[in-house]
Amino acid sequence: MIANLAKLGISNLQGLLLHLPLRYIDETHVTAVRDLRMGESAQVEGDIVHAEVTYKPRKALIARLEDASGQLTLRFLHFYPSQINALKVGAKLRVYGEVRSGFFGYEMVHPTCKAVGEKTIVAETLTPVYPTVAGLGQASLRKAIGIALQQQGEMLETLPAQIYADLNLPSFALSLTALHHPSPDVSLRALDNKTTAHWRRLAFDELLAQQLSMRKHYARRRSVSAPQFKRSTKLVSALLKSLPFALTGAQQKVALEIERDLTQAHPMQRLLQGDVGSGKTIVACMAALQCVENGWQVALMAPTEILAEQHYRKMLSWLQPLDIKIAWLTGSQNKKDRDAALESIASGEAKLVVGTHALFQESVRFKSLGLAIIDEQHRFGVHQRLALRQKGQPEPHQLMMSATPIPRTLSMSYYADLDVSVIDELPPGRSPIVTKIVSDARRDEILQRVREACLQGNQAYWVCPLIEESEALQLATANDTYALMQQEFPELKVGLVHGRMKPTEKQAVMAEFSAGHSQLLVATTVIEVGVDVPNASLMVIEHAERMGLSQLHQLRGRVGRGATKSTCILLYQNKLSDTARARLKVIYESNDGFAIAQADLQIRGPGELLGVRQSGVPMLKIADLERDVDLLEAAKDMADTLLQNYPAEVEQHLDRWMSTAGELVKV
Ligand code: ADP
Ligand code: MG
Repeated sequence: MIANLAKLGISNLQGLLLHLPLRYIDETHVTAVRDLRMGESAQVEGDIVHAEVTYKPRKALIARLEDASGQLTLRFLHFYPSQINALKVGAKLRVYGEVRSGFFGYEMVHPTCKAVGEKTIVAETLTPVYPTVAGLGQASLRKAIGIALQQQGEMLETLPAQIYADLNLPSFALSLTALHHPSPDVSLRALDNKTTAHWRRLAFDELLAQQLSMRKHYARRRSVSAPQFKRSTKLVSALLKSLPFALTGAQQKVALEIERDLTQAHPMQRLLQGDVGSGKTIVACMAALQCVENGWQVALMAPTEILAEQHYRKMLSWLQPLDIKIAWLTGSQNKKDRDAALESIASGEAKLVVGTHALFQESVRFKSLGLAIIDEQHRFGVHQRLALRQKGQPEPHQLMMSATPIPRTLSMSYYADLDVSVIDELPPGRSPIVTKIVSDARRDEILQRVREACLQGNQAYWVCPLIEESEALQLATANDTYALMQQEFPELKVGLVHGRMKPTEKQAVMAEFSAGHSQLLVATTVIEVGVDVPNASLMVIEHAERMGLSQLHQLRGRVGRGATKSTCILLYQNKLSDTARARLKVIYESNDGFAIAQADLQIRGPGELLGVRQSGVPMLKIADLERDVDLLEAAKDMADTLLQNYPAEVEQHLDRWMSTAGELVKV
């Protein structure tokens, strides 16, 4: 029992009490067969009047149960000898299940069955169905939780009564009892949707715990010291002077926010958010220069080699004229280059280091890391970012960048410990991308379009379908597509890039495409992030219906970077389901990453948008950000008051909610 409970993550009484039902069944009354209704779940009591094991069309145990009003068929497709025994003619049973219409009238498939004895009583409350594991039956779990409830009696209230009363929420103890054993007049639907006051009380407590722990992290950060950088007086203005463009208003605004953070004595943790192409890199570069001018080093980390390489080139072009030494570090480097890079990082000769995950490995030692910049932050886990942060002494500032906009509810909850800057304006002169949704049946027309575009001096991407189940298959498809395209377009130079290529090969292919030596680039979704080739103005995405909306938006952002009018063609395989159609419609109608992320959140839940951030961050189990947005707002409003006036209660509250989820990683 203890071992099985541990598998469910339950290690103490409190954990047991917080193990809440998945759903409920209503065994509080017995329904007459005559009164059964299709599609509803009900409890029926009667005698078995017929039972047999049939073999046609397939093996099944079929029994008929009779009460004073009629007969009901019970059907089992999988069964044990003990069940054949229990369903013998003459047995008196109480069964519970969903009513369906079968060949012989109403039937229940795999109902739960109980022998009716002298002691059988009708339940007084709805029966909870708990998440469980093999070896631990519902009955034992119900019993254990029932005992825990009795023992615990008045479970400790962690909140001042005024607080939950103001929100019209019941007490914690009352809620807990009511959720384990709801009274029969509570609507099953409201219970299942978690909209009853008792569910809401627990959702509120969970959201509040999240707010409190985020606030504490935030406060902790304010108490840690970081290198303080004066405003740049030389390098930043020299960089800006060398650019062929002026910063947008939005870029100026966020650059100021970051500059101000860096003058503070505690570590910045700021998320720089901006749609694809909004120009985050230059803003990051300005922050880097402020750090360098103050005599500290900067690390710039990207999730893929392609992206890191591109950042490296861009930084070289911007910083070499300013005489700033940049090192380059990836996993695929040869030993000699790597040792040289490590040496210049350790000696402090390299002021800026650009690279991939290789940057936070053990062997990398900085002389004085003052700022860590992390591009596409949602691609990195909390632990990876933490490792990079630990490479500085005192703690370096951190700037995280993301092109995936965070819907408001997410930034209020999972991201509440970060400061956020948003670039909400694209640089001028971009022509909007036209998106088309085209059936795969019209492939020939699309190929013709690709040919024309390339012959006119533009470039195109052909994105191969995402095959999540099999990387091998995905690779095979990319190779096939590449062969087909070469055949189709003998007059063009076609490139191929995919995730399994050696980094040096990838770089060569990308460099060729960037320089315009190849016109068509066949790619897997590795080009999703960051790749910047302004002359590419056409993108075809195969099997677009398989991809996430934010992913499609990111992919599409690879075109529309130059002055030529750009097009993105989403090819779909015939017959689109209604949801798939609805999703593609969002991409078709909107070029606004924010609206797209919001739709993604609604369609697929927060896990997708949070990315690997969720590893190490407790996910909400009860509360739902969309459904419980009012509670989220209330929790946010209340967190400060509680921290100030009720520190002991706060500790108890966090102890209850955070101990079961594991210690929250110090983000
Ligand atoms: P992202 O925010 O997606 O990382 P980048 O930083 O790669 O975008 O910028 C996209 C392109 O726009 C780059 O070629 C960059 O040099 C250019 N760019 C950035 N800011 C401006 C601006 N204010 N005016 C014109 N072009 C800009
Ligand atoms: Mg970028």
